[in-house]
Amino acid sequence: MDRVYFCGRILTGACGEVKRNQYVSVENGKIVSVSSQRPPECTDIVDWSGYTVMPGLINCHTHVGIVPAADSNLVLTYPLAQRVILIQKHLVQLLASGVTTIRDLGCYDDMDIQIRDCIRNEFIIGPDMFVSGPMLTMTGGHSYTVGVEVDGKDTCRKAARQRLKSGADLVKVMATGGVLTKGVEPGNAQLSCEEMTVICEEAHKAGKKVAAHAQGTTGIQNALNAGVDSIEHGFFMNQKIIDQMVRKGVYYVPTFCAPYFMACKGKELGLAQEFIDKVYNSLEAHASGFTCALNSGVKIACGTDAGTPFNGHDMTAKEIVLLCEHGMSNVQAIQAATQNAAECIGVADRGKIESGLLADMIAVEGNPLEDIHCLETSVRYVVKRGRLFDTDVLKRSLLG
Ligand SMILES: [Zn+2]
Repeated sequence: MDRVYFCGRILTGACGEVKRNQYVSVENGKIVSVSSQRPPECTDIVDWSGYTVMPGLINCHTHVGIVPAADSNLVLTYPLAQRVILIQKHLVQLLASGVTTIRDLGCYDDMDIQIRDCIRNEFIIGPDMFVSGPMLTMTGGHSYTVGVEVDGKDTCRKAARQRLKSGADLVKVMATGGVLTKGVEPGNAQLSCEEMTVICEEAHKAGKKVAAHAQGTTGIQNALNAGVDSIEHGFFMNQKIIDQMVRKGVYYVPTFCAPYFMACKGKELGLAQEFIDKVYNSLEAHASGFTCALNSGVKIACGTDAGTPFNGHDMTAKEIVLLCEHGMSNVQAIQAATQNAAECIGVADRGKIESGLLADMIAVEGNPLEDIHCLETSVRYVVKRGRLFDTDVLKRSLLG
């Protein structure tokens, strides 16, 4: 046994269960046991009696390759070395904010795939990454500057196969327009149902999932009919869509942080007026659609869309707070960022503190079940695959 953590309060992640005074034993990056009995053979005991310990946070929608500036395309003008260094900085920000796993949904040049492997090989530190590589979008469609343009069934099939050949963990499709592409409307459908169907076929054959950027009603419906596994953003949902999501077990990742930061900071920080208008046009529908989805039992996972304007890579806890402000209980929002997020990604080895799972945990000052904001301010330690990080030390390392 490598180390034992004595936890004053522990949220194991199993149905909101809270336990007191538990010993979590860790060996080779995995949890060996969770017990009220002190393991007799261990000498290395970390005293977390004053903390709330919970599973490491999982962010299901990031863009580590994108700098959260007013112009998302700015980073594409940077030399390669600068982009790589910025990605490393974003990964440390994620880790320092308690995030041990991310699903990265759109990066240029397969850089996310290469960085994922750098983390796997322990060349650099960062959360575990599950990545899509460039998103598949129609010609001139949303995010075409970062994505791969595809038109027609054969091209879509080939592009999906190419994604898988590159080593992507999942495929990202653009079912509708979006906020941050000039002249493209979030409400408009883009890739057709037929096109997305062949992409889903190819991904599913290989045991991979498909995540759909889907904001307008028709595009969301097309994506669901095509068989996607998660709806990202979902600005304009209706009851028919929501019922279908429940029936099919499709995940919803609302990414509240993205519109939130553009709405509060856009004007002051020089975001294009067109983008601000598109955000404001969607806010009300987004909030009411979410309430409806929550009440109807749609499976919901936490994702921030980090990298969109002013939406930094350390905002996972802010998304949890926004989920609460939109009607989730503290326990539900924490589950959205732990076991639900793991299920959304399709990984069974994390998201809870249980024997046999990865030793991914955070120690928080305060009790997030009473005050959810402590996740924003008071994550003191992060354990990722058994490796212990002091978040203050990580944050100091970011001072450039
Ligand atoms: Zn995104």
